[in-house]
Amino acid sequence: MTEEAAPTMPTGCSARGCGKPATWALLWNNPKIHTPDRRKTWLACDEHKDSLSDFLDRRSFLRSVEPFSA
Ligand SMILES: [Zn+2]
Repeated sequence: MTEEAAPTMPTGCSARGCGKPATWALLWNNPKIHTPDRRKTWLACDEHKDSLSDFLDRRSFLRSVEPFSA
């Protein structure tokens, strides 16, 4: 609930210390804590798209990767 209530949608890369404008949205779900239709979103720049999606994919959390533009 709290994430959806955030007043502004961040548009920068989610990688720690990056903050570049995001060009990809990584949609993921943790079955242990989220209902199956729930989607969390990480944003990624071109540079961090692979490392962030790998991180989620290794945990079987990654559901889809979509182009993103602010
Ligand atoms: Zn980045």
